[in-house]
Amino acid sequence: MHTDARELEDGTLIEGDLCIVGAGAAGISMALEWAGTSHDVILLEGGGFEVEAQMQDRYRGDIVGQPYFPLNAARLHAFGGTTGHWAGFCAPYDPIDFEEREWVPHSGWPIGREELDPYYQRAHELVELGPYAYDAAYWTQQNPSRKALPLSEEVVRTKMWQFSPPTRFGHAYRDDITEADTIRLYTYANAVEVEANDSVRAVEGIRVKTPNGKAHRVSARRYVLACGAIQNARLLLASNRKAPEGLGNDHDLVGRYFMEHIEMPGAQLVLAEPRPLALYMHTFFETTARGEVALTAEAQRTRAILNGTASLNPGVYDALRGTFQQLTPEWVEQNLQLSPEEMERRRARSRQDTSRQPAFPARRAFKLFTRQEQAPNPHSRVTLTDEADALGMPRVALDWQLTALDKRSMRTFYEVLGQEVGRSGVGRVRLLEWLQDDEAGWPDFVSGGWHHMGTARMHDDPRQGVVDADGKVHGIGNLYVAGSAVYPTAGAANPTLTLIALTLRLSDHLKATAD
Ligand SMILES: Cc1cc2nc3c(=O)[nH]c(=O)nc-3n(C[C@H](O)[C@H](O)[C@H](O)COP(=O)(O)OP(=O)(O)OC[C@H]3O[C@@H](n4cnc5c(N)ncnc54)[C@H](O)[C@@H]3O)c2cc1C
Repeated sequence: MHTDARELEDGTLIEGDLCIVGAGAAGISMALEWAGTSHDVILLEGGGFEVEAQMQDRYRGDIVGQPYFPLNAARLHAFGGTTGHWAGFCAPYDPIDFEEREWVPHSGWPIGREELDPYYQRAHELVELGPYAYDAAYWTQQNPSRKALPLSEEVVRTKMWQFSPPTRFGHAYRDDITEADTIRLYTYANAVEVEANDSVRAVEGIRVKTPNGKAHRVSARRYVLACGAIQNARLLLASNRKAPEGLGNDHDLVGRYFMEHIEMPGAQLVLAEPRPLALYMHTFFETTARGEVALTAEAQRTRAILNGTASLNPGVYDALRGTFQQLTPEWVEQNLQLSPEEMERRRARSRQDTSRQPAFPARRAFKLFTRQEQAPNPHSRVTLTDEADALGMPRVALDWQLTALDKRSMRTFYEVLGQEVGRSGVGRVRLLEWLQDDEAGWPDFVSGGWHHMGTARMHDDPRQGVVDADGKVHGIGNLYVAGSAVYPTAGAANPTLTLIALTLRLSDHLKATAD
């Protein structure tokens, strides 16, 4: 059932069993789990069904640290959330991502990868991926033209990725949500405050405002915040009537440890002889999986570095101007000329048959594009500012901060890769100028991957985490956080598949503990 909250009588009280705040990847994944159950679910979405400038303005905020993308462009405030323009690159986190690594301060999840495996499989269906298969050998077996580079397997591994169409949750699941008897979706229903009881041990309600000036209230038994990492932190911090520092913030952790993936060019690879390297290539409509080069967990441990991968893109970087010369512009242009129907036909074909492999010409030169986790850093954070948005809610400032470990890890990654590539006679790796010296710092703009993580981190100890291993806010009996806000470390893979898996796990927990 769908209701436009702007049309409700001012001051309406909405009651139910479970209130989910935010209808993006996390919120919709959770709500779908409750369709057809006997539980009465309220799904609050701040925006409407389409992206609107007025609603995007709620996300505007200050950038006070490392330069970053404008916040009102980095997330979508509409039903479906940021899946409205995500790219669909998916991979599960590696087992090492969950471990406590002594060289990475504040690392370690309270759960391991094996705990998430069954949920990753279910998440695959929601984002329309192929088989839950991330072993490069599987993909080579399907088509032997996909050969891994002949590098030492003790040092270098192939990290596999799969590509969602990409699934736009706002379109793909709109009918499932609005037609479900037990789900009541309210659009233009912005949560502006989570109201705690006097002892701050439980949540009693959510204050909701609409863009046309109405104020409503939601009362439920349990509440899940699924607004995205920056907005979840904003909502917790702004809910400060009973807890002056904000909800869940007794230990000054909410908003801290903001993490991104460092996604930028790092080096170039020149092969001794031309190769197609089909395993590592990708075209948007014809490949559903591809590999990236990464270092093994052991190689990361030995060098005490963060996890990262590099994708191989045809061409070379122009070292002088920072631009690159595309060696094969033809295939890019050809792909852009495809009609939507043709794109869909090709996607469907490659999804049905995982052995299908487009032909790639043999080339010598490849750009190496980095994806790397950043180390958790308490100084990298989201705070509230004195400015309020149109609904009277304080805006945020993002102070994104990197550390020396981030840069050393990126340099070391390419040095180790270069040694292996040279030793095996495969070719040569050349690091970009700025990366050759740790003292040289970062370039003016360090690109993130548009991934927001870590502002309500998960830890068994309330002094080190905002939520526990189930996603429940420490100290508050009925408040939960879903999404990548809870990540203690960022992993090297894009975050959405993992946040959906965690959301499904949280949903199972809520069902198992329902009255
Ligand atoms: C350009 C781009 C490319 C990306 N590509 C990839 C990729 O290839 N792979 C990948 O894994 N990830 C990618 N991402 C990241 C991905 O989009 C996010 O990880 C994912 O959408 C997060 O899901 P979420 O549900 O936590 O947040 P969102 O999808 O942002 O959803 C949050 C929802 O909450 C609503 N909301 C917010 N505040 C309130 C409030 N106060 N009251 C009520 N509702 C509220 C919002 O309107 C929204 O619907 C990309 C992101 C961008 C911007």
